[in-house]
Amino acid sequence: MNLIQIYKQFPTHEACINHLEKVRWDNKPKCPYCKSDRNTPLKEKQKRYHCNNCNTSFSVTVDTIFHNTKLDLQKWFLALTLILNAKKGISSRQLARDIETRPNTAWRMQMQVRKAMIEQGDLLEGIIEADETFVGGKEKNKHKNKRTPNNQGRSNKTKQPVIGAIQRDGKVVARKAKGTDGRTLKSFLNTNVKKGSTIMTDEWQAYRGLSKNFEHYVIKHNAGEYVNGDIYTNSIENFWSLLKRGITGQYHWLSSKYLGKYIDEFCFRHNHRNNEKVFDLVLLKSVNLRSNYE
Ligand SMILES: [Zn+2]
Repeated sequence: MNLIQIYKQFPTHEACINHLEKVRWDNKPKCPYCKSDRNTPLKEKQKRYHCNNCNTSFSVTVDTIFHNTKLDLQKWFLALTLILNAKKGISSRQLARDIETRPNTAWRMQMQVRKAMIEQGDLLEGIIEADETFVGGKEKNKHKNKRTPNNQGRSNKTKQPVIGAIQRDGKVVARKAKGTDGRTLKSFLNTNVKKGSTIMTDEWQAYRGLSKNFEHYVIKHNAGEYVNGDIYTNSIENFWSLLKRGITGQYHWLSSKYLGKYIDEFCFRHNHRNNEKVFDLVLLKSVNLRSNYE
């Protein structure tokens, strides 16, 4: 759904609460503390319930990423839509301008939303492209004491390795990694790709031995070869370039500390690009996550 649709469908904080109650409880409130469904609506406070079993009171935002937020839930719904629709990601500065909050608030919201975008997917199967890349800031943009001596951008000293695999016309899995050696890459592929699948890679030596568990084809980039019939790694390379462009625009891109979260966000967006119910999916996944707003 686009921004206007969300804005029209959920014009108030109450409308957002009602929708969250529907998605989370199917409109039958259940105590998040003791799981009892015996409760009484509180008269003095709208949309709060008294649990008749454990005597606490609760609302639908308890134990979600919206728990204890001071912001109107409508801002969260709009932020969620902007994040889901931003193919190249959205910087916290831009998000702050769009929903009229402070940049730090927008950044904290993004970090919360990303928690609900972590995928626990099925194994990739069929034709898979695997690749590795390096991401990281330019040396000249760093504080002096954080610069690496003799690093003019070619060295990978300050860059963070990222490894990934994409199923053609399917899902992508990517992780920040300690290195791009054979052990790391093969363990990643053995964990995330169904045995017997076809894997396309470039000629990086670390992929040698993949044919033990997979059908392995190599595209020889060093020989100037980029497409050889069905053998190519363009899909994963396109994903990398989207991820890198997204990261470049991030205000809070200071270290590799948050890299894993950015990768989660980009994978989730790719994997649910044709899912019409992705908005409700994120709401549902936001349940049982601890909030930073306590
Ligand atoms: Zn209870």
